[in-house]
Amino acid sequence: MAISRRTFLQRSLAGGAAITAFGFDVTPIYAQAKSLKISRTTETRSTCPYCSVSCGIIIHTLGDKAKNAIPQVVHVEGDPDHPINRGTLCPKGASLEQDILNERRLLNPQVRRPGADRWEDIGWDQAIDEIGRWVKKTRDATFVEKDPRGRTVNRCEGLAWNGGCTDTNEFNYLVVKTMRSLGVCYLENQARV
Ligand code: SF4
Repeated sequence: MAISRRTFLQRSLAGGAAITAFGFDVTPIYAQAKSLKISRTTETRSTCPYCSVSCGIIIHTLGDKAKNAIPQVVHVEGDPDHPINRGTLCPKGASLEQDILNERRLLNPQVRRPGADRWEDIGWDQAIDEIGRWVKKTRDATFVEKDPRGRTVNRCEGLAWNGGCTDTNEFNYLVVKTMRSLGVCYLENQARV
């Protein structure tokens, strides 16, 4: 059977379908080519941090897990097993790889001191110490035992908690327990994962 150059190209580009004109099935070759990009990666399941829909994602990293090797993110895709999005992502979520690898991404806690015009990098230990001190000081200063009518309320009106959409149910359970024990009544979370 004579095949023109145009027909040859059309059939070659047709995808993974078996190309019977050549007498062999190229489907396995196409499948192999598609799997190469993520064939040696480690899959980590996570949650898209952008909005309250909280779509499930899979982050693919390359690296042999040696102590001196830093894993490199090479691909991010929707998690087909996740009940919320079943593998789909909106354009924002689909660009997550660029968020993870962005050179402007913050990697340290930062603080802006009273009167300062810039943010200062601090260590995690220092951040936790300072947060603890400010929580204690603010709670002591703003705790309300009784309302104006003399009823016992035991609430702290000077603190609030706002959680992110990647916080799990288990994490949020602990947050609510902790905040309620401090008397915090203003607490909310972006999503219900
Ligand atoms: S993929 Fe889109 S819809 Fe899903 S959580 Fe991210 S930003 Fe929201």
